[in-house]
Amino acid sequence: MADYVLVLDEGTTSTRAMLFASDGVFVASAQKELTQHYPREGWVEHDAGEIWEKTLACALEVIPKAGGAACISGIGITNQRETVVAWDKATGEPLTRAIVWQDRRTEPFCIELRAEGHEKDVQKRTGLLLDPYFSGTKMRWMLDNVPEVKAAAEKGTLALGTVDSWLTYKLTGGAHVTDASNASRTLLLELAGAQFDQGLCDLLGVPRSALPEVIDMSGELATSDAALFGSPIPITGMVGDQQAATIGQACLSPGETKATYGTGAFVLTNQGEVIPQSHNRLLGTVLSQIGGKRTYAIEGSVFVAGSLVQWLRDSLGIVDVASQTEELARSIPDSGGVIIVPALAGLGAPHWRAEARGVICGLSFASGKPQLARAALEAMAHQTSDLAKAFSADGTPWGTLRIDGGMAANTWMAQDLANVLNIPVERPDFVETTALGAAMLAAAGSGLYPDLAGAAEAMRGNLKRFEPDMSDDVRSDRLERWRKALAAA
Ligand code: ADP
Repeated sequence: MADYVLVLDEGTTSTRAMLFASDGVFVASAQKELTQHYPREGWVEHDAGEIWEKTLACALEVIPKAGGAACISGIGITNQRETVVAWDKATGEPLTRAIVWQDRRTEPFCIELRAEGHEKDVQKRTGLLLDPYFSGTKMRWMLDNVPEVKAAAEKGTLALGTVDSWLTYKLTGGAHVTDASNASRTLLLELAGAQFDQGLCDLLGVPRSALPEVIDMSGELATSDAALFGSPIPITGMVGDQQAATIGQACLSPGETKATYGTGAFVLTNQGEVIPQSHNRLLGTVLSQIGGKRTYAIEGSVFVAGSLVQWLRDSLGIVDVASQTEELARSIPDSGGVIIVPALAGLGAPHWRAEARGVICGLSFASGKPQLARAALEAMAHQTSDLAKAFSADGTPWGTLRIDGGMAANTWMAQDLANVLNIPVERPDFVETTALGAAMLAAAGSGLYPDLAGAAEAMRGNLKRFEPDMSDDVRSDRLERWRKALAAA
């Protein structure tokens, strides 16, 4: 019986195939690292051919564990968002390396567009800011700078898309589609628009004819080529990674919020069917589209989270492994006045100060490894607290916060988040919420459940809850010292 779901989780550093049973139990996975290319400062590229080959190899490794393709009811694709792939529809081959979401090369174009006064209108229509992070300016860069891309555009064979599109194209042998959540990260889709917007395409100089069709994220979306896996498997879920994690945390009602602490931190609050308009430099984004009906989210992204712990490990040698920060933090009653502002790559939401740099303040002779480790973990609650204020000011206060991501394994940090935010924090036992969200969409889309709510109900695992336990004085003292340090960043 076809009651397994296959998730293809294409992340920034690796690609995975994961097999889930219909009740959400994780069965098997295969994973391969992806090569990161850094041709110049601020540039980050991936080889789209490698992404496809490694995704296919991972899928081929786990499908037999389900008993073969016929035992899989649907494929769910989830992916690093904003990364752009250009390929030739005539050959099915990439025309150049993919430009990764982290890549900053289009900053001059963004500055130009901002100087021309476009940001306000673009933000209103797309929910996004004119920042190199988003896909549209990356597409334009390829057209301007890669002769093969330009030539394909002239011949009419150019295909542009995010990684969900690229994988679907390869899986199906030619479908050119994207799900609405990925499409909403391009600067080319109006939050209310069904398809890419001609005016926005003209503004950014991207040919609409090269873009995919925008489709639902759950349902009978496409079908894999029979030759790949022995028999065709329907593709029944497609979703950007942060939206997947939000769904995987079952944040399906307005106001429900998740925060993923990985390399960076991404917070999304469900807005229901209301199109978000942030007045506090948060982003508006599509959360889901099923049966043509959309829900939205407000999103705040913090650039540095787990990567601060990595820096303590690799550059300062304060810990050998990331998890040691927990015992160091627990070994002292407080950070001894040490505050770290982790602006190592500028500050993201809600500050958006690209030029800001990191600060460590409050050092004394008593400051050592435990104080620095604790201050690094405390910085996560401080950054999240700034986001909480911005979300509240936008009319979406958080009742509880559901956390996930590699860093959420740190139980001391989870409790500190509850303490500083002064709300309960919940952590699922199964922290792979991105893959689980894609599995829920694929399970609902293939008919294993009547709808997404049913899939989420059945597939969601157990939670651990952290209740706030900090006096108001301690909390306000910490946040006051954070505000002062932030001003110095
Ligand atoms: P990504 O998906 O962005 O690659 P992950 O979700 O795998 O990241 O999280 C990895 C990050 O979490 C690393 O930056 C690592 O430093 C941090 N991390 C992992 N475990 C812990 C821990 N127990 N305490 C603190 N940080 C941790």
